[in-house]
Amino acid sequence: MKFAVFDWNGARQLGQIDGERITPLAAPAERVATEGVACLIGADVSPAGEPLPLDAVALAAPIPRPRRNVFCVGKNYHDHAQEFAASGFDSSAAKGAVPPAPIIFSKVPESVTGPGAPILMDPAVSTAVDYEAELTVIIGKAGRNIAAAEAMDHVWGYTIINDVTARDLQGLHSQWLIGKSQDSFCPMGPWAVTADELDLADTPVRCWVNDELRQESNTSLLIFDVPAIIAALSNGITLQPGDVIATGTPAGVGIGFEPPKYLVPGDRVRIEIGGIGVLGNRVEAI
Ligand code: MG
Repeated sequence: MKFAVFDWNGARQLGQIDGERITPLAAPAERVATEGVACLIGADVSPAGEPLPLDAVALAAPIPRPRRNVFCVGKNYHDHAQEFAASGFDSSAAKGAVPPAPIIFSKVPESVTGPGAPILMDPAVSTAVDYEAELTVIIGKAGRNIAAAEAMDHVWGYTIINDVTARDLQGLHSQWLIGKSQDSFCPMGPWAVTADELDLADTPVRCWVNDELRQESNTSLLIFDVPAIIAALSNGITLQPGDVIATGTPAGVGIGFEPPKYLVPGDRVRIEIGGIGVLGNRVEAI
């Protein structure tokens, strides 16, 4: 099943997508505004109106304001680990190109923005803004010290995140939070799909900037797979329903090119993950 948050007639609503139509669902408006599709975890799905044409509504991030920081995994594809270690911007490089344990960082909830919303680029802050296409997990069941063998029981669904990054700030600070958490640096969407919709053993991940295919990989190539990530993150931290985990990006980010191909105002970034859909955003200067 596919669920989205959307704006229609001045109201933010939750909906279920079926083909080219979206059916509004019953949910408390104040919870939809922050939790979005996470309102559906453990809840009944009941229609609250007639189906609308999907192309007539404005989609928002499926979890517009996560309850806490978005968890992220760094250097989690072999080819990207190599390109990033070679870039000179890798403040984690002392540990080697391929990390011995998952590198975990986070993005503040306020960095989340929706499909079609601008990625805001402030040249006074960064001149090295980069894109990162990432399969993203939505947790559905709380747990602490979750074994990898049990981890998939805790997954409610998936979406896409563009882990937009200011490379210069990432390199300046040993911790990556500032470079990863700039306003609008977490486009999410275009909707969420339930866990049964994806086969993580074979899910393609692609990213285009304008019409150039920059990233082309598959979740089968993750260094730490989704169960391993959940096991590592829940090691002493209780994961909660609605938690969001971006699983890392493959090779082909801007920093990987010589010279680097950073984003510039007017660029269109389009990420496609098989079984989910397409997340598109345009870069704008502020
Ligand atoms: Mg990333």
